[in-house]
Amino acid sequence: MTSGAPSTGSDETPHCTLSDDGTHFLWRHNCVDSEFDHIPGRLPLGGPGGWTLEQQEPLTISPSILCHACGTHGFFREGKWMPV
Ligand SMILES: [Zn+2]
Repeated sequence: MTSGAPSTGSDETPHCTLSDDGTHFLWRHNCVDSEFDHIPGRLPLGGPGGWTLEQQEPLTISPSILCHACGTHGFFREGKWMPV
């Protein structure tokens, strides 16, 4: 198991983490915009405009996730980032 290794921002693979209360998830990725690079994006689950939590373990979210700052785009399925 190498996932969850400490990262100082050089990890190029985006990663999603489910919040404790399940109302949102945190998305972290290397970004050209330093504001997004250091603070994980907090994205809503459910409701209009929110993402769908398809599965908690391993974490699967739909639809795809897109960063408007750097263009990073992909799916997070079964605990893994899949670039589009
Ligand atoms: Zn970005």
